[in-house]
Amino acid sequence: MTFAPLRLRLDSAALVSNWQMLARLSGSAACGAAVKANGYGLGARGVTERLAAAGCRDFFVATWREAAELAGLGVTVSVLHGVRDADMGRRPAQARPVLNSAEQVRRWRESAGGACDVMVDTGMNRLGVSLQQVADGLLDGLAIETLMSHLAAADEDSPLNERQREAFAALRGLVGAKRMSLANSAGIALGPDYHFDLTRPGIALYGGVQRTEHGAIRQVVTPQAQILQRRRVAAGETVGYNATFTAPRDIEVAILNLGYADGYLRCFSGRGQALADAATLPVLGRISMDLTAICVEAAPELAEGDWVSIAYDLPATAALSGLSQYELLTGLGARFDRVWE
Ligand SMILES: *Cc1c(COP(=O)(O)O)cnc(C)c1O
Repeated sequence: MTFAPLRLRLDSAALVSNWQMLARLSGSAACGAAVKANGYGLGARGVTERLAAAGCRDFFVATWREAAELAGLGVTVSVLHGVRDADMGRRPAQARPVLNSAEQVRRWRESAGGACDVMVDTGMNRLGVSLQQVADGLLDGLAIETLMSHLAAADEDSPLNERQREAFAALRGLVGAKRMSLANSAGIALGPDYHFDLTRPGIALYGGVQRTEHGAIRQVVTPQAQILQRRRVAAGETVGYNATFTAPRDIEVAILNLGYADGYLRCFSGRGQALADAATLPVLGRISMDLTAICVEAAPELAEGDWVSIAYDLPATAALSGLSQYELLTGLGARFDRVWE
Protein backbone atom coordinates (compact mmCIF):
# COMPACT_ATOMS: atom_id res chain seq x y z
CA MET A 1 0.00 0.00 0.00
CA THR A 2 1.30 3.45 -0.81
CA PHE A 3 1.17 6.26 1.68
CA ALA A 4 -1.41 8.99 1.20
CA PRO A 5 -0.66 12.62 0.32
CA LEU A 6 -2.27 13.65 3.61
CA ARG A 7 -1.74 12.40 7.13
CA LEU A 8 -2.60 13.03 10.75
CA ARG A 9 0.51 13.33 12.87
CA LEU A 10 -0.54 11.89 16.22
CA ASP A 11 1.54 12.56 19.32
CA SER A 12 1.58 9.43 21.56
CA ALA A 13 3.37 11.20 24.41
CA ALA A 14 0.81 14.03 24.41
CA LEU A 15 -2.12 11.57 24.43
CA VAL A 16 -0.66 9.64 27.37
CA SER A 17 0.28 12.83 29.20
CA ASN A 18 -3.28 14.17 28.84
CA TRP A 19 -4.71 10.90 30.20
CA GLN A 20 -2.26 10.92 33.13
CA MET A 21 -3.21 14.51 33.94
CA LEU A 22 -6.93 13.61 33.91
CA ALA A 23 -6.23 10.48 35.99
CA ARG A 24 -4.42 12.63 38.58
CA LEU A 25 -7.30 15.13 38.62
CA SER A 26 -9.72 12.22 39.08
CA GLY A 27 -8.13 11.53 42.47
CA SER A 28 -9.04 8.11 43.83
CA ALA A 29 -11.50 7.45 41.00
CA ALA A 30 -10.31 5.32 38.09
CA CYS A 31 -9.93 7.21 34.80
CA GLY A 32 -11.32 5.63 31.63
CA ALA A 33 -11.41 6.83 28.03
CA ALA A 34 -14.19 7.54 25.53
CA VAL A 35 -12.97 6.14 22.20
CA LYS A 36 -16.25 6.30 20.26
CA ALA A 37 -16.38 7.77 16.75
CA ASN A 38 -13.10 6.04 15.88
CA GLY A 39 -11.31 7.49 18.88
CA TYR A 40 -12.67 11.00 18.09
CA GLY A 41 -11.18 10.64 14.61
CA LEU A 42 -7.66 9.59 15.66
CA GLY A 43 -8.22 5.85 15.16
CA ALA A 44 -9.80 3.87 18.00
CA ARG A 45 -7.29 1.01 18.01
CA GLY A 46 -4.26 3.29 18.07
CA VAL A 47 -5.69 5.32 20.95
CA THR A 48 -6.81 2.25 22.91
CA GLU A 49 -3.46 0.46 22.59
CA ARG A 50 -1.59 3.47 23.90
CA LEU A 51 -3.92 4.24 26.78
CA ALA A 52 -4.13 0.57 27.80
CA ALA A 53 -0.32 0.48 27.95
CA ALA A 54 -0.45 3.58 30.17
CA GLY A 55 -2.81 1.82 32.59
CA CYS A 56 -6.30 2.78 31.38
CA ARG A 57 -8.78 -0.07 31.96
CA ASP A 58 -12.22 1.30 30.98
CA PHE A 59 -13.10 2.17 27.40
CA PHE A 60 -16.37 3.54 26.00
CA VAL A 61 -17.71 3.25 22.44
CA ALA A 62 -21.12 4.05 20.95
CA THR A 63 -21.98 0.84 19.07
CA TRP A 64 -21.18 -2.87 18.88
CA ARG A 65 -19.43 -2.39 15.59
CA GLU A 66 -17.08 0.03 17.32
CA ALA A 67 -16.60 -2.52 20.11
CA ALA A 68 -15.73 -5.21 17.54
CA GLU A 69 -13.02 -2.96 16.13
CA LEU A 70 -11.23 -3.18 19.47
CA ALA A 71 -11.22 -7.00 19.54
CA GLY A 72 -7.96 -8.63 20.52
CA LEU A 73 -6.59 -5.68 22.48
CA GLY A 74 -7.40 -7.33 25.83
CA VAL A 75 -9.50 -4.43 27.09
CA THR A 76 -13.08 -4.29 28.34
CA VAL A 77 -15.39 -2.01 26.41
CA SER A 78 -18.72 -0.48 27.40
CA VAL A 79 -21.19 0.12 24.55
CA LEU A 80 -22.95 3.40 25.33
CA HIS A 81 -25.94 2.92 23.03
CA GLY A 82 -26.99 -0.26 24.77
CA VAL A 83 -28.19 -3.33 22.95
CA ARG A 84 -30.66 -3.85 20.11
CA ASP A 85 -32.18 -7.17 19.09
CA ALA A 86 -29.84 -7.11 16.10
CA ASP A 87 -26.81 -6.94 18.43
CA MET A 88 -27.70 -9.90 20.62
CA GLY A 89 -26.46 -12.69 18.36
CA ARG A 90 -22.96 -11.49 17.69
CA ARG A 91 -21.67 -9.61 20.66
CA PRO A 92 -17.89 -9.49 21.08
CA ALA A 93 -17.05 -11.19 24.38
CA GLN A 94 -14.97 -8.35 25.79
CA ALA A 95 -17.84 -5.84 25.59
CA ARG A 96 -20.91 -5.15 27.71
CA PRO A 97 -23.86 -2.87 27.03
CA VAL A 98 -24.80 0.30 28.86
CA LEU A 99 -28.53 -0.35 29.22
CA ASN A 100 -30.55 2.81 28.56
CA SER A 101 -34.23 1.88 28.55
CA ALA A 102 -36.74 -0.55 30.06
CA GLU A 103 -36.83 -2.32 26.70
CA GLN A 104 -33.06 -2.84 26.76
CA VAL A 105 -33.19 -4.06 30.37
CA ARG A 106 -35.87 -6.60 29.43
CA ARG A 107 -33.86 -7.77 26.42
CA TRP A 108 -30.75 -8.20 28.53
CA ARG A 109 -32.57 -10.08 31.31
CA GLU A 110 -34.18 -12.48 28.82
CA SER A 111 -30.82 -13.34 27.34
CA ALA A 112 -29.28 -13.86 30.81
CA GLY A 113 -26.54 -11.68 29.41
CA GLY A 114 -24.48 -11.28 32.60
CA ALA A 115 -22.62 -8.17 33.67
CA CYS A 116 -23.85 -4.89 32.23
CA ASP A 117 -23.65 -1.16 32.80
CA VAL A 118 -26.69 1.09 33.17
CA MET A 119 -27.23 4.75 32.24
CA VAL A 120 -29.60 6.76 34.41
CA ASP A 121 -31.00 10.05 33.14
CA THR A 122 -30.55 12.80 35.73
CA GLY A 123 -31.71 15.73 33.60
CA MET A 124 -30.14 15.64 30.15
CA ASN A 125 -33.11 13.85 28.61
CA ARG A 126 -30.96 12.05 26.12
CA LEU A 127 -30.25 8.39 26.92
CA GLY A 128 -30.98 6.54 30.15
CA VAL A 129 -33.63 5.03 32.38
CA SER A 130 -35.48 7.46 34.63
CA LEU A 131 -35.02 7.90 38.36
CA GLN A 132 -38.64 6.80 38.76
CA GLN A 133 -37.98 3.55 36.90
CA VAL A 134 -35.03 2.87 39.21
CA ALA A 135 -37.22 3.57 42.26
CA ASP A 136 -39.85 1.20 40.83
CA GLY A 137 -37.32 -1.64 40.78
CA LEU A 138 -36.52 -1.83 37.06
CA LEU A 139 -32.88 -2.66 37.82
CA ASP A 140 -33.43 -5.09 40.70
CA GLY A 141 -31.28 -8.18 40.43
CA LEU A 142 -29.21 -7.01 37.46
CA ALA A 143 -25.44 -7.60 37.70
CA ILE A 144 -24.46 -3.98 37.25
CA GLU A 145 -20.77 -3.25 36.85
CA THR A 146 -21.05 0.53 36.45
CA LEU A 147 -24.03 2.79 37.04
CA MET A 148 -23.60 6.00 35.05
CA SER A 149 -25.18 9.28 34.29
CA HIS A 150 -24.07 12.04 31.93
CA LEU A 151 -23.71 15.78 32.58
CA ALA A 152 -25.45 18.07 30.12
CA ALA A 153 -23.50 21.27 30.72
CA ALA A 154 -20.28 20.46 32.59
CA ASP A 155 -18.36 22.90 30.39
CA GLU A 156 -20.43 25.75 31.88
CA ASP A 157 -21.04 26.93 35.44
CA SER A 158 -24.66 25.84 35.22
CA PRO A 159 -26.89 25.03 38.21
CA LEU A 160 -27.82 21.90 36.27
CA ASN A 161 -24.46 20.36 37.23
CA GLU A 162 -25.20 20.33 40.94
CA ARG A 163 -28.79 19.17 40.40
CA GLN A 164 -27.59 16.24 38.30
CA ARG A 165 -24.83 15.39 40.79
CA GLU A 166 -27.26 15.32 43.72
CA ALA A 167 -29.79 13.18 41.86
CA PHE A 168 -27.04 10.75 40.92
CA ALA A 169 -25.46 10.63 44.39
CA ALA A 170 -28.86 9.73 45.87
CA LEU A 171 -28.66 6.43 43.95
CA ARG A 172 -25.55 5.31 45.84
CA GLY A 173 -26.09 1.91 47.39
CA LEU A 174 -29.59 1.64 45.94
CA VAL A 175 -29.04 -0.57 42.88
CA GLY A 176 -26.06 -2.68 43.91
CA ALA A 177 -23.76 -1.40 41.17
CA LYS A 178 -20.07 -2.08 41.77
CA ARG A 179 -19.08 1.40 40.63
CA MET A 180 -20.65 4.77 39.85
CA SER A 181 -19.52 7.14 37.08
CA LEU A 182 -20.67 10.66 36.19
CA ALA A 183 -17.91 12.91 34.86
CA ASN A 184 -16.82 13.47 31.26
CA SER A 185 -13.74 15.65 30.55
CA ALA A 186 -15.35 18.86 31.73
CA GLY A 187 -17.00 17.12 34.68
CA ILE A 188 -13.60 16.07 36.04
CA ALA A 189 -12.77 19.75 36.50
CA LEU A 190 -15.89 20.32 38.63
CA GLY A 191 -14.14 18.74 41.60
CA PRO A 192 -13.97 15.56 43.71
CA ASP A 193 -17.73 15.45 44.37
CA TYR A 194 -18.21 14.70 40.69
CA HIS A 195 -15.66 11.89 40.39
CA PHE A 196 -17.45 8.96 42.10
CA ASP A 197 -15.55 5.73 41.22
CA LEU A 198 -14.75 6.18 37.54
CA THR A 199 -14.39 9.16 35.17
CA ARG A 200 -14.98 9.05 31.41
CA PRO A 201 -12.98 11.74 29.58
CA GLY A 202 -12.99 11.97 25.81
CA ILE A 203 -12.23 15.32 24.23
CA ALA A 204 -9.55 16.39 26.73
CA LEU A 205 -7.52 13.25 25.98
CA TYR A 206 -7.26 14.42 22.38
CA GLY A 207 -6.26 18.01 23.11
CA GLY A 208 -9.68 19.60 23.62
CA VAL A 209 -9.92 22.32 26.25
CA GLN A 210 -13.35 22.56 27.89
CA ARG A 211 -12.45 24.20 31.20
CA THR A 212 -9.43 26.16 32.38
CA GLU A 213 -9.16 24.08 35.59
CA HIS A 214 -7.68 21.23 33.56
CA GLY A 215 -4.31 22.93 33.29
CA ALA A 216 -1.90 21.97 30.57
CA ILE A 217 -3.61 19.87 27.90
CA ARG A 218 -1.32 19.08 24.99
CA GLN A 219 -2.24 19.11 21.32
CA VAL A 220 -2.32 15.53 19.98
CA VAL A 221 -3.51 15.88 16.37
CA THR A 222 -1.81 17.81 13.56
CA PRO A 223 -3.16 17.40 10.02
CA GLN A 224 -0.45 17.56 7.37
CA ALA A 225 -0.82 17.76 3.60
CA GLN A 226 1.54 17.48 0.67
CA ILE A 227 2.03 20.26 -1.85
CA LEU A 228 0.82 19.12 -5.28
CA GLN A 229 1.82 22.21 -7.19
CA ARG A 230 3.41 25.59 -6.66
CA ARG A 231 2.49 28.47 -8.92
CA ARG A 232 2.84 32.20 -9.36
CA VAL A 233 -0.44 34.14 -9.46
CA ALA A 234 -0.20 37.53 -11.13
CA ALA A 235 -1.67 40.67 -9.61
CA GLY A 236 -5.40 40.88 -10.40
CA GLU A 237 -5.77 37.10 -11.05
CA THR A 238 -8.11 35.07 -8.84
CA VAL A 239 -7.73 31.76 -7.00
CA GLY A 240 -10.20 28.88 -6.74
CA TYR A 241 -13.95 28.37 -7.15
CA ASN A 242 -16.03 31.51 -7.59
CA ALA A 243 -12.91 33.65 -7.68
CA THR A 244 -13.32 34.79 -4.08
CA PHE A 245 -9.64 35.71 -3.71
CA THR A 246 -7.92 38.26 -5.96
CA ALA A 247 -4.13 38.58 -5.82
CA PRO A 248 -3.31 42.15 -4.67
CA ARG A 249 0.15 41.79 -6.27
CA ASP A 250 2.13 38.96 -7.85
CA ILE A 251 2.11 36.19 -5.24
CA GLU A 252 3.37 32.63 -4.73
CA VAL A 253 0.71 29.98 -4.14
CA ALA A 254 0.87 26.29 -3.18
CA ILE A 255 -1.96 23.83 -3.75
CA LEU A 256 -2.41 21.27 -0.95
CA ASN A 257 -3.86 17.77 -1.11
CA LEU A 258 -6.58 18.53 1.45
CA GLY A 259 -10.22 19.57 1.15
CA TYR A 260 -13.67 19.53 2.64
CA ALA A 261 -14.09 15.84 1.86
CA ASP A 262 -11.30 15.30 4.41
CA GLY A 263 -13.09 17.36 7.05
CA TYR A 264 -11.26 20.60 6.25
CA LEU A 265 -14.58 22.35 5.75
CA ARG A 266 -15.44 25.45 3.77
CA CYS A 267 -15.51 27.57 6.92
CA PHE A 268 -11.71 27.60 6.59
CA SER A 269 -11.99 29.38 3.22
CA GLY A 270 -9.93 32.55 3.45
CA ARG A 271 -9.25 32.04 7.17
CA GLY A 272 -7.39 28.77 7.81
CA GLN A 273 -3.62 28.63 8.11
CA ALA A 274 -0.82 26.24 7.24
CA LEU A 275 2.49 26.21 9.07
CA ALA A 276 5.96 25.47 7.74
CA ASP A 277 8.86 25.97 10.14
CA ALA A 278 8.32 29.47 11.48
CA ALA A 279 6.14 30.68 8.60
CA THR A 280 2.37 31.09 8.77
CA LEU A 281 0.76 30.46 5.39
CA PRO A 282 -2.83 31.74 5.00
CA VAL A 283 -5.52 29.85 3.06
CA LEU A 284 -6.53 31.70 -0.10
CA GLY A 285 -10.07 31.56 -1.47
CA ARG A 286 -12.48 28.64 -1.25
CA ILE A 287 -11.64 25.21 0.12
CA SER A 288 -12.38 22.67 -2.64
CA MET A 289 -13.44 19.05 -2.12
CA ASP A 290 -9.86 17.72 -2.33
CA LEU A 291 -7.69 20.84 -2.60
CA THR A 292 -6.72 23.95 -0.66
CA ALA A 293 -4.66 26.92 -1.85
CA ILE A 294 -2.24 28.69 0.52
CA CYS A 295 0.01 31.69 0.13
CA VAL A 296 3.68 30.65 0.33
CA GLU A 297 5.37 34.03 -0.05
CA ALA A 298 6.77 33.53 3.47
CA ALA A 299 8.28 30.15 2.56
CA PRO A 300 10.32 30.54 -0.64
CA GLU A 301 11.93 27.10 -0.30
CA LEU A 302 8.67 25.08 -0.22
CA ALA A 303 8.31 22.94 -3.34
CA GLU A 304 6.07 20.32 -4.93
CA GLY A 305 6.10 17.20 -2.72
CA ASP A 306 6.91 19.03 0.50
CA TRP A 307 4.62 18.69 3.52
CA VAL A 308 3.03 21.48 5.49
CA SER A 309 1.13 21.30 8.78
CA ILE A 310 -2.34 22.74 9.21
CA ALA A 311 -2.84 25.02 12.23
CA TYR A 312 -5.13 22.89 14.41
CA ASP A 313 -4.83 24.01 18.03
CA LEU A 314 -8.36 23.02 19.05
CA PRO A 315 -9.60 26.02 21.07
CA ALA A 316 -8.13 28.53 18.62
CA THR A 317 -9.34 26.62 15.57
CA ALA A 318 -12.85 26.29 17.03
CA ALA A 319 -12.95 30.05 17.62
CA LEU A 320 -11.71 30.71 14.09
CA SER A 321 -14.03 28.27 12.30
CA GLY A 322 -17.23 28.26 14.34
CA LEU A 323 -16.97 24.45 14.59
CA SER A 324 -16.82 22.78 17.98
CA GLN A 325 -13.59 21.12 19.11
CA TYR A 326 -15.47 17.81 18.87
CA GLU A 327 -16.46 18.42 15.25
CA LEU A 328 -12.90 19.44 14.37
CA LEU A 329 -11.66 16.01 15.43
CA THR A 330 -14.49 13.66 14.51
CA GLY A 331 -14.82 15.15 11.03
CA LEU A 332 -11.27 14.19 10.04
CA GLY A 333 -11.80 11.82 7.14
CA ALA A 334 -10.73 8.34 6.07
CA ARG A 335 -8.21 9.58 3.48
CA PHE A 336 -5.70 10.67 6.13
CA ASP A 337 -2.95 8.20 7.02
CA ARG A 338 -2.87 8.11 10.81
CA VAL A 339 0.75 8.24 11.86
CA TRP A 340 1.67 7.86 15.54
CA GLU A 341 4.90 9.40 16.72
C1 LIG B 1 -18.84 11.07 24.73
C2 LIG B 1 -19.13 10.72 26.13
C3 LIG B 1 -18.19 10.97 27.14
C4 LIG B 1 -16.93 11.78 26.90
O1 LIG B 1 -17.27 13.15 26.82
P1 LIG B 1 -16.19 14.31 26.57
O2 LIG B 1 -16.99 15.56 26.66
O3 LIG B 1 -15.63 14.09 25.22
O4 LIG B 1 -15.16 14.19 27.64
C5 LIG B 1 -18.46 10.49 28.40
N1 LIG B 1 -19.63 9.85 28.68
C6 LIG B 1 -20.56 9.63 27.74
C7 LIG B 1 -21.82 8.92 28.11
C8 LIG B 1 -20.36 10.07 26.45
O5 LIG B 1 -21.31 9.88 25.51
